[in-house]
Amino acid sequence: MTENTTETPAPRTVLVTGGNRGIGRSIAEAYREAGHNVCITYRSGEAPEGFFAVRADVTDSASIDEAFQQIEAQFGPVEILVANAGVTKDTLLLRMKEADFADVVDTNLTGAFRVVQRAAKGFLRKKFGRVVLISSVVGLYGSPGQINYSASKSGLIGIARSLTRELGSRNITANVVAPGFIDTEMTAVLPEETQQQYLDSIPAHRFGSPEEVARVVRWLTGDDAGYISGAVIPVDGGLGMGH
Ligand code: NDP
Repeated sequence: MTENTTETPAPRTVLVTGGNRGIGRSIAEAYREAGHNVCITYRSGEAPEGFFAVRADVTDSASIDEAFQQIEAQFGPVEILVANAGVTKDTLLLRMKEADFADVVDTNLTGAFRVVQRAAKGFLRKKFGRVVLISSVVGLYGSPGQINYSASKSGLIGIARSLTRELGSRNITANVVAPGFIDTEMTAVLPEETQQQYLDSIPAHRFGSPEEVARVVRWLTGDDAGYISGAVIPVDGGLGMGH
């Protein structure tokens, strides 16, 4: 047995997609606090200060490749990848256009595939890689009006588990973090009634903070969690228990 008490030995090269705001921003800050070389992608707006920021759209392979090239030129291969970028386009099944389904899957699921595939080249060269895919309690539990989002988020579990079986022997781990209801812009736009219904069903009886997700993600890529792969870790105040 190896003794290891270091949470996340620094500095590693970390990439967080959609790291300009919300949960992604908190994840990027958590890694920065621990002394890592933190790179973020942002799709729109201004890049936040204090990170190596590259503009990229996860629906566009060429833009992802360009982002990785810039990061590699600065810090070498990405060692820790957090695929966080995600969108919702909620509506009930009978009103959902095929494009609403395809667009959400293209960002949340195929987008994760694109960045994981690109990062894997560097992992193999480095003989080290840590992947965290940001899913959702909805990927396991389901949610009315979110067939597209739920499908995209449960698909991430397939990616993490197949990646674990494919590359697990190369010192590469892949895990899923499934947040529940977290206070961000994504959830702030939900109707008050929906927010209240969630609150009533969460055993912790409160929403989570982006920092609570960020610390779990960081821990999951550190040495203390080096023997965890293919796992789904809920950060949801007990909302999805058993799913
Ligand atoms: P936000 O809407 O606050 O942020 C989403 C981020 O993803 C933004 O940085 C956004 O960039 C980026 N993004 C969206 N589409 C693309 C794209 N095509 N290419 C590149 N970046 C893109 O969401 P949250 O912080 O709330 O959510 C972060 C992740 O956590 C998502 O995957 C979400 O599904 C998941 N999640 C959130 C929960 C919550 O309660 N908030 C619960 C469970 C899971 P831009 O600024 O340009 O729009």
